[in-house]
Amino acid sequence: MTSQSERFDPDTSYPTYSGDKTLHSNIGKALSLTLLILSSLTASVTALAQETHDLVIVNGRVIDPETGLDAVRNVGIKDGSIAAISEFPLTGATTINAKGQVVAPGWIDLHAHGQEIGALRMQAMQGVTTALELESGLLPIGDWYTAEAKKPHPINYGAAAAWTFARIQAITGTEAKADLGWFQSMFANHDWQNSISTPEQQTEILALLEQAIKEGAIGVGVNAGYAPGNGQKEYFAVAQLAAKYNVPTFTHVRYASVPEPKSSFEAVKELVSNAALAGAHMHLCHINSTSMRDIDSTLPLVLNAQKDGFRVSVGAYPYGAAGTTVGAEMFRGDGWQVRMGGTKYSDFELNGKRLDEKTFNDLQANSPGTIITWHYLDAENPVDLAKLDASVGNLNVAIESDAMPWVVNGENYDGDAWPLPEGAFAHPRSNGTFAKVLRFWVRERGVLSLSDAVKKMSLIPAQILEESVPQMRKKGRIQVGMDADIVVFDLEKVADKSTFTEPNQPAVGFSYVLVGGVMVVEKGKLNTDAAPGEAIRRPIAE
Ligand SMILES: [Zn+2]
Repeated sequence: MTSQSERFDPDTSYPTYSGDKTLHSNIGKALSLTLLILSSLTASVTALAQETHDLVIVNGRVIDPETGLDAVRNVGIKDGSIAAISEFPLTGATTINAKGQVVAPGWIDLHAHGQEIGALRMQAMQGVTTALELESGLLPIGDWYTAEAKKPHPINYGAAAAWTFARIQAITGTEAKADLGWFQSMFANHDWQNSISTPEQQTEILALLEQAIKEGAIGVGVNAGYAPGNGQKEYFAVAQLAAKYNVPTFTHVRYASVPEPKSSFEAVKELVSNAALAGAHMHLCHINSTSMRDIDSTLPLVLNAQKDGFRVSVGAYPYGAAGTTVGAEMFRGDGWQVRMGGTKYSDFELNGKRLDEKTFNDLQANSPGTIITWHYLDAENPVDLAKLDASVGNLNVAIESDAMPWVVNGENYDGDAWPLPEGAFAHPRSNGTFAKVLRFWVRERGVLSLSDAVKKMSLIPAQILEESVPQMRKKGRIQVGMDADIVVFDLEKVADKSTFTEPNQPAVGFSYVLVGGVMVVEKGKLNTDAAPGEAIRRPIAE
């Protein structure tokens, strides 16, 4: 079903100017005004027309969720920033004709594990201009930013300090390496996942995190679901540390279970109470997947806390299947299948093939860091789809992808081939999340209005970060003075192509993606030479 109100007609949506009309017709209308207004109007039109920009995007339907602008405008870009937004013609060295298309702030993804160039390119193809690894995070963070600065980045990148990495180092004595592959390799060790830290270990964990915050980490990633045996006091101390430095935490909550105890409900309540008691800003990642079929009891906890002024934010991704390690603690212990909402072995999938009890147990015993797909909802079933709509369609919930690294021959792929090598594999959310929201939630079903979807994918994530990350104050908006991180797309054509069995297919319908005014995607094709992405990082303490 297409929502009629969202259909864009350039001739009716904007009453006084359309791209077909000339400057003279506008001035002609102005003749009915006073001479004074006419002369000042002519002067300003002339000034705008003569100003030469590096790039102009003309005749597009410009959406700025902060000011409420939703009209045909021309956008002028100079030195990487938005320099003009006008009803009148603008000139520039390069012109993009966006007639019939939407011009919006580029998507900001708060939850992007895939930080390799191929993963970031897949993100660019669906309009993402900033992709941040905040839920899991990395450590040591200074080393990571130094190493990344030497690599080309098509879009902006950044990371939080990883609480799990600090925990692994403090509890196992293995020095943390700023690499997701290293983290996956540590799943064979269960001590850091299940034990309460000693006072000395807790001190070391907090010291490692504090160091990372001083090195400019974007807050603290608290991947508690992967170390659910951590103590309440340690988790609370992490929240207090975040509050002390006024940085957010990004949490994968401790439990995912429909029945109590150790339920999703209990875990969300723990997060809200830590935010309230420590005064920290705590972001709850992918509430869709950790709530499973219990979203109607978990989400209201967060929304009510927000209403009461507590600093809790929340995100979701638009799939009824999660990507996770087969060795995760939630898939162990008595009754784990019941806790996981009645999940069956055939609800798990590896490289497009469903598992059975034997293949699942073999993987868990021999290769616990393997990333598998877990169908926690049946999105074809209307009852389950409504559970997904509850989070994805909610106006206070940010869209975040939880994008995974692309795996080729069993390794996280960090090569720069484009397209990605044949057989490259990842959860389809890695290159389809934002396209799927526009296709399935906006165009096909009208669950979200276009401007609300844009807000959930750009302004809301910018607002979640901007208090502690000054760079984000210039993102997520189409306004003069903001960074020219912009996506241009055709709402009638935009679509995710990636599937659980054939994920290596970029999204379509995104004709231009600009990062700092540089075209990373041009006429729907990736520009492999473009590397305008910058590090998003908090100021480094002396
Ligand atoms: Zn997670």
